[in-house]
Amino acid sequence: MTVAERGSDGRAGQLIDAWDEMREYVDHDPQEYERLVAECARELAAAPSGTLAYRWTLGLVLALPYLATRKPEDLDVEAAFGAASAAARALRDETCGHGEHPFQGSLEGQLECVPDVLRELGGEGAGGEGLWPDPRQSREAWLCPRNTAGYARVVMESLRPGSAGDDVPPFLPFEDRYELDGLTAIMEGYPLARTFDVAFDLSFAASALQEASGEDLAGRVFTATAVTWYVEVEADPEHEGAQQLVAELVGAFERALELLSDGGTCAHDAHPALPDDATEVLWVGAHLASARGRAVYERWPRKGVPPLGTVRCPVFVAATVRDSLARLRSC
Ligand SMILES: [Zn+2]
Ligand SMILES: [Zn+2]
Repeated sequence: MTVAERGSDGRAGQLIDAWDEMREYVDHDPQEYERLVAECARELAAAPSGTLAYRWTLGLVLALPYLATRKPEDLDVEAAFGAASAAARALRDETCGHGEHPFQGSLEGQLECVPDVLRELGGEGAGGEGLWPDPRQSREAWLCPRNTAGYARVVMESLRPGSAGDDVPPFLPFEDRYELDGLTAIMEGYPLARTFDVAFDLSFAASALQEASGEDLAGRVFTATAVTWYVEVEADPEHEGAQQLVAELVGAFERALELLSDGGTCAHDAHPALPDDATEVLWVGAHLASARGRAVYERWPRKGVPPLGTVRCPVFVAATVRDSLARLRSC
């Protein structure tokens, strides 16, 4: 290995570390993240079928949590979309003998493994077993142009839903992931740095329920239910912010109950119980609040959560609303 090659390996390692940080911290250092995304997009757009296209594309995948905090018209979002489109076009018609590719797996479980995969793909090693998120996958499948094209379409779909065609597997929208992570951290007792005020952040669950309707309503009910359980135990009833939060939740649940009152009866003998743990209920709510989230819920069922068919039953959802209202009224 020459000094120059070692230098570029070192640079690649630093980049992967920086992308991993961007994935985890989302909005800690927007200026730096904007620069990282612009670099990724520039390199990928310059050589969308080049030997390093896989690396720049996966860099953009790791940027998706951050990009979800941006506006669609922001320059880095546009540049990322343009570069991903170029890679998808350049690589999607390559032929290969793989039955499936890593991009077809659950992004939720996979995202945090991507930095290690990138380090392994860039190194000299043949790829240790157990490294890959899914042991059925291989180094070749990760490096396959069609896999890179698939991840490029994941980037496109995240930035502009509906833009990438329907062979992209479902994933929880990153905006919903952002909200879920924030609420989960509050309920676990370690609010994220971005949480300015706990009661204020929790009130987003009430305003989202206030605006929800149709298929997404059940998800918003369950998220607000998890917040209700938390408020019931943790909130100081004398605190003005807590009182306001309770009032907002009551108003949103009352509206939801009116929307659900046409549900009538159902044919179910019994309804499932929600998980006991409020953070698990948050997970259920976040996934049921969008079509893509519901598709994830169904395709990759999480242990201990109720099945999609009965958990969304209007009779069950209405009963959950009434239970939450009773808890809030005794706060
Ligand atoms: Zn392939
Ligand atoms: Zn039912």
